[in-house]
Amino acid sequence: MIRFEQVSKQFPNGTFAVKSLDFEIRKGEFFVLIGPSGSGKTTTLKMINRLIELSKGWVWINGKKISDYDINELRWNIGYVLQQIALFPHMSIAENIAIVPELVNWDKEKIAARADELLKMVGLDPKEYRNRKPSELSGGQQQRVGVIRALAADPEIILMDEPFSALDPFSREKLQDDLLEIQRKLKKTIVFVTHDMQEALKLGDRICLMKDGEIVQIGTPNEFLTSP
Ligand code: ADP
Ligand code: ADP
Repeated sequence: MIRFEQVSKQFPNGTFAVKSLDFEIRKGEFFVLIGPSGSGKTTTLKMINRLIELSKGWVWINGKKISDYDINELRWNIGYVLQQIALFPHMSIAENIAIVPELVNWDKEKIAARADELLKMVGLDPKEYRNRKPSELSGGQQQRVGVIRALAADPEIILMDEPFSALDPFSREKLQDDLLEIQRKLKKTIVFVTHDMQEALKLGDRICLMKDGEIVQIGTPNEFLTSP
């Protein structure tokens, strides 16, 4: 469903961030990009929602080049979760979750029901949490809201850039479990960046190892554990 064909990115300063990437991510797959700092993971991720434009090649989503999509339509259909919690502090939890559904004109009742459903999915009681401000939640709880906010308008694809790396080990483990449960239920296509092999092995259907802007290996966790 997402296909990279001969994709390269050279930044204006001359840095080649990625070179000739050729791979496919399947529908409903949990696809993990792993590699050392500077290996091109974030660049690869951000090319999917066109936060970074390609220098060469093509990225296809559902058989259509991303350059042929309306940029808003493309971004609304792709949830995005960052490492830094990025909730709007002056808005309640429910208002934060409602941002994209409102942009795509869902009606109010449907948005409220969706917010409650998602809060329950990550163990936050809607009655208790929907009207709180982000500062009234712990870091782990805020990041849980960051994850469900990316799911709010039911996008097909979720991009996640080291979403759990700032969390304490306990919260991280809980959120990893929640995310696996969510993907089992909702069958989203998830592209997940991490530099933590334990996390990649736990979460990924397939893992893509990058180094110096190139793909070293793509395989299942089992293939990674058994390869020399
Ligand atoms: P990773 O996510 O694996 O840490 P990145 O995709 O962020 O790697 O970066 C890949 C390479 O591209 C690195 O050498 C980085 O310094 C370089 N790079 C990233 N963004 C820019 C930019 N805006 N301008 C110039 N070079 C960049
Ligand atoms: P967690 O176990 O998720 O890390 P904490 O230990 O930080 O959560 O918080 C424990 C409880 O206190 C949680 O139910 C959380 O909702 C509540 N809480 C944390 N910070 C605040 C705050 N600033 N205002 C109100 N309640 C808070």
